[in-house]
Amino acid sequence: MARRFRILFASPEVVPYAKTGGLADVAGALPYALAERGHDVCVMMPRYAALYDGKHPLTAEPTSSFPVPVGSRVETAEVYELAEEKPVRFCFIAHEGYFHRPELYRNPKTGKDWADNDERFVFFSRAIIEWCKAADYRPDIIHVNDWQSALVPAYLKTLYVDDSFFAGSRTVLTVHNLAYHGQFPAKRFAVLGLNKKCFAPLSPFEFYTKVNFLKAGLSYVDKINTVSETYAREIQSGPELGCGLDGILRDRSQDLFGIVNGIDYQVWNPAVDPLLTANYSPDEMAGKQKNKEQLIEACGFDPAMKILPLIGVISRLDSQKGFDLIEEVAEKLFSRKLLFVLLGTGAKNYHLLFEKMQKKYPQTFHAFLTFDNRLAHLIEAGADMFLMPSRYEPCGLNQLYSLKYGTVPIVRRTGGLADTVEDVDLPRETGTGFVFDDYTGKALLAAVDRALAAFALPKSWARIVANGMSRDFSWAASAAKYERLYDAAATSPPFTP
Ligand code: ADP
Repeated sequence: MARRFRILFASPEVVPYAKTGGLADVAGALPYALAERGHDVCVMMPRYAALYDGKHPLTAEPTSSFPVPVGSRVETAEVYELAEEKPVRFCFIAHEGYFHRPELYRNPKTGKDWADNDERFVFFSRAIIEWCKAADYRPDIIHVNDWQSALVPAYLKTLYVDDSFFAGSRTVLTVHNLAYHGQFPAKRFAVLGLNKKCFAPLSPFEFYTKVNFLKAGLSYVDKINTVSETYAREIQSGPELGCGLDGILRDRSQDLFGIVNGIDYQVWNPAVDPLLTANYSPDEMAGKQKNKEQLIEACGFDPAMKILPLIGVISRLDSQKGFDLIEEVAEKLFSRKLLFVLLGTGAKNYHLLFEKMQKKYPQTFHAFLTFDNRLAHLIEAGADMFLMPSRYEPCGLNQLYSLKYGTVPIVRRTGGLADTVEDVDLPRETGTGFVFDDYTGKALLAAVDRALAAFALPKSWARIVANGMSRDFSWAASAAKYERLYDAAATSPPFTP
């Protein structure tokens, strides 16, 4: 039996409290899977505006309140906790000025990042450290996620290096997407509260003259992991997928691991999904067709079109996700007999692209340019195929949801998509999805055509659907791997850069 760890899990977003992407799903599920394995887990996140509306039962008063240095000032952090009996402890770091805002990272009025994002997440990171001391909470493992909490290991190895309170603590940093560095202008370095010398050229905090939170974390943390084995290799392969941090990652390859995300089958399971009006399971698939009919209605398509294959996309609208390939082959794609529904928000150019596409192909293409969790569930349940032509994909969650919902993924062979979708061999009826290699419209179209050909053979299609639904991507297996990672961290001396 592995050692029982006390784990502080820090994340800027956690389902169901705040979410902009896959990190929130991970942070909402992995801690429970770890608790189930006997570990003592405490999750820390900021208390955003939505956490004041009474929807989630938080303690009425802070359970602790303590000073947090930010640059040359001292701010006050208050920690509220979830007032509900749960196997995991949840703490919310409150600071009206920094976190009581409608969006997590972006000002909705300007459409740009909050101008003080550096300061907000300096505060978050230092508040995590100061809370441990104020609450006399000595974690064995401090597990941080992405740039927003990546300064925690950097602070522990600089400002707090002589603090015996943390002598027994080791740090783990999970990179959910290496493209987001938390990068800020050099003149903002003072807000970190570190000696200017720490910002020397090529030092852990400096990246091409800018302040870089993720680089600092990667440089100081004891163990690093990312969310699939293939992505862990890809990010060391060169500057493109390594986003310029590939050199550091190669230097740290002994400490760098890949652990594929699991999914929460209490939330994403068509047999029990409370957001669906028609549930279904591998043994009783009739409900899937009902979801398809509802989805077709929601898209405003002709109900008679329900016999056509329906392709779904749910995604942040970002250049990472491969939409330029869809744009490239749109004319050919929509000459096929199919329906296509997209749900997403993000970059303006893609909003315009998909609005235009909808005008051009109103009978077969519908775009919901919004963030809507219920609709995401309906698309997973109602679509026949799910398209993810990503340029890169650290893990990807939607292809995993799709497998469970009997919605056959069509994916590019990259990162977590490569690790989780097995290419179909139609004559043998093996595999779970349609995988293509080249980042080209032609390759995407060929994969779609293979999927359409398989869809035309109902018996083979049912087999491919069943193959996917039988795969198990629950958190249990991944949590066991995280446990081994913690064990490796705990039994090694602290890493020194
Ligand atoms: P990423 O983390 O790169 O955004 P993932 O596939 O790992 O991509 O996770 C995305 C998560 O966000 C999934 O749970 C997906 O269903 C959800 N999601 C993305 N866009 C939307 C949207 N517009 N409405 C509802 N859910 C969305």
